[in-house]
Amino acid sequence: MRAEGIETVRRILCVFPRYTPSFGTFEYSYPLTDGVQAFMPPQGLLLIAAYLPANWPVRFIDENIRAATAEDFKWAEAVFVSGMHIQRQQMNDICRRAHAFDLAVAIGGPSVSACPEYYPSFDYLHIGEMGDATNELIARVARDPSRPEQQVVLKTADRLEMTKFPIPAYELADIKRYFLGSIQYSSGCPYQCEFCDIPGLYGRNPRLKTPQQITAELDRLLECGVVGSVYFVDDNFIGNRKAALDLLPHLIEWQKKTGYVLRLSCEATLNIAKRPEILSGMREAFFGTIFCGIETPDPVALKAMHKDHNMMVPIMEAIKTLNNYGMEVVSGIILGLDTDKPETGQHLLEFIDASQIPLLTINLLQALPQTPLWDRLKRENRLIEDEGRDSNVDFRLPYEDVVRMWRACMKDAYQPGKLLERYEYQIRETYPHRITPPPSREQRSWRNIKLGLTLLRNIFWKVGVLGDYKREFWKFALRRLARGEIEHLIGSILVAHHLILYARDASVGQQNASNYSVRLRGAAVPAE
Ligand code: SF4
Repeated sequence: MRAEGIETVRRILCVFPRYTPSFGTFEYSYPLTDGVQAFMPPQGLLLIAAYLPANWPVRFIDENIRAATAEDFKWAEAVFVSGMHIQRQQMNDICRRAHAFDLAVAIGGPSVSACPEYYPSFDYLHIGEMGDATNELIARVARDPSRPEQQVVLKTADRLEMTKFPIPAYELADIKRYFLGSIQYSSGCPYQCEFCDIPGLYGRNPRLKTPQQITAELDRLLECGVVGSVYFVDDNFIGNRKAALDLLPHLIEWQKKTGYVLRLSCEATLNIAKRPEILSGMREAFFGTIFCGIETPDPVALKAMHKDHNMMVPIMEAIKTLNNYGMEVVSGIILGLDTDKPETGQHLLEFIDASQIPLLTINLLQALPQTPLWDRLKRENRLIEDEGRDSNVDFRLPYEDVVRMWRACMKDAYQPGKLLERYEYQIRETYPHRITPPPSREQRSWRNIKLGLTLLRNIFWKVGVLGDYKREFWKFALRRLARGEIEHLIGSILVAHHLILYARDASVGQQNASNYSVRLRGAAVPAE
């Protein structure tokens, strides 16, 4: 549904801020692609854009693709912004630029909802999820688009049911410019891991869309040109297990109908390994990757952070189970925990070798506002506000030792030979468990063949000829070519190339040690 009962017409400029380059956004691989410039379409802002009154002209700009120009600001009557903590500086910068044109600027999304005090210059703060605050914001801008005399704070008390959410306005975004498509089925998570702000922001009882909404969104994404993969951004895909089971038959049906043109991926807790009925449905629905917040292989640390559910199945066994359903595991890892010892880094590297997980997002612990961790560290006087640091936590181990450990892990884990060996393992042990979709017209289409040829040309030229890990690359690539595994070659290198280059910068201190750190670096990311 949309906001209704508004007569006045207003032109709204929705601006999504740039990301600071980070481990999980794959910037270093964009030059290998066919014109990708950003990670995933932002769900929140596109949802708001779709909810605005039908007669309001809306312009959407993702500043990861192009910056909002003077012409955009002159066109607009008000500006809407949304983003995460890591984009805080960029959001405040958008506000400053909009104010230069005397425009009212509203901010919503997870960062302002947790920390309104980060955004003193904005005219409207939209706190919480879509609901009565959204209607009030739209009504105020409709009545008078000029800047209010003082900041107006609107808090959602009555949330709009997700079953009433409109399809995000994917048509406003240049979907082909994104590394992955994105979609959301549920919001919230029943667990309470100490460091996580999801239960505080979105609740412990997951809210849901209907399966029909999801298949309609997938249709729309296809119409808008999405190719390759679509990522379920749900905080925990099995936060409500029954809902996951309800959705899967619809996804399977949709894949059959459309010829399996999209591979799916999601985030879920590792105890999904105990749910063969969900895993076999996911396999049929063509899920190829699953992100699990393993955080640490140390059971004592998992208990201390209230993530005991990771131990419901022994971790290695759980990873193997997921691999046996054709799903490659991506793992979140945290260093800097109170339970860490000087040898924690070495244990992590042993875990990586044993698990054969190619992609692990290794971050330093960061205390996010509105989390039990934040409250505890505040009580213990261990929060440090210093933008020169990579974490706001006063670790038990000396800060320099923890950062050194992180850099050493990044350097070792992402040596090209080691990383490609882990992909070799996945190709041998995991991918054969995936279903083989029947050949589709789309697969044989000229568009698809041309895309494959473009990616191969870029990979061979930029990695195989100009790259500086040619020996490891060709060892891996020649095996793939000999076995006709072209798709595996492209898929692995598109991810591996980013990891290798990013980790190399990280290991010499040119990238942030936390995805949440707002510390600015001078590291150059290819802007091709
Ligand atoms: S399981 Fe994941 S989403 Fe849920 S509280 Fe823990 S870290 Fe957050």
